[in-house]
Amino acid sequence: MNRSVTTRFAPSPTGYLHLGHAYSALFSHQKAQQAGGRFLLRMEDIDVGRCRSEFHDAILEDLAWLGLTWEGPVRRQSEHMAVYANALHRLRERALLYPCFCSRREIAEEIAASASAPHGPDGPHYPGTCRTMDPQVRRERLDRGDPHALRLDMQQAIHQAGILGWSDAEQGDQVARPEIFGDVVLARRDVATSYHLSVTVDDHLQGVTLVTRGTDLFEASHVHRLLQALLDLDRPLYHHHRLLVGTDGKRFAKRDKSLTLRALREAGRTAEEVRTMALGQDRKETM
Ligand code: GLU
Repeated sequence: MNRSVTTRFAPSPTGYLHLGHAYSALFSHQKAQQAGGRFLLRMEDIDVGRCRSEFHDAILEDLAWLGLTWEGPVRRQSEHMAVYANALHRLRERALLYPCFCSRREIAEEIAASASAPHGPDGPHYPGTCRTMDPQVRRERLDRGDPHALRLDMQQAIHQAGILGWSDAEQGDQVARPEIFGDVVLARRDVATSYHLSVTVDDHLQGVTLVTRGTDLFEASHVHRLLQALLDLDRPLYHHHRLLVGTDGKRFAKRDKSLTLRALREAGRTAEEVRTMALGQDRKETM
């Protein structure tokens, strides 16, 4: 038994859970169980415009139907904005944040006009327009209350943190390469935090020792490792798991209504059948 292993499932309540989520939740739960550890649940509901309480309730209900139990109260990110503000404050004190007033359109225009814009996992890098803004103009715009995001000065951040490593259970030891994202947004214009910031802070505060999630978020771990170093947070292990795909070879998405756990349940599938559908291939692989 290794009580110190703590995993979590961290869905965003922006839709109903589908088979891919079921796989991810069962995977995480299994990793905790195998080690006699803890499995936690977190609602990543910072995106006030897209999250709905109806989905929050449905997720709890679907996971319980699937037979999953989690330890302690569910952490709702929207209730912890002060914690993220504090983390931003610490980064600001290290002179690693700058306000970005650019609209999406302005960024796109700037990129289109530049000869070569580096591309990262989330698309072209931010061209750095506001990083080099005249301090006086920046002050005036802030005083005027112009809407802005907060971006990480990636080069400075890497310079301060030095060379970092992290480890994935399947892909082994990694050298952190957060630079592939450029100056990431850590607080959005409309929401005073971001996925990268809140996920990293929360994994630390919840004592998560093994972050399990799909390989679609593999690269994000480079940024998370950097934030851990800058904010002096614990460093978990990672296990990025495969993504379930449908018969068409495409991964499940929230728009695939027919494979939501609700739809499967309404079509008469039992929880055991759905667990087998989700984990089926893994079982074969381990036989
Ligand atoms: N909230 C993220 C999602 O639903 C998962 C975050 C994570 O596991 O790090 O895709």
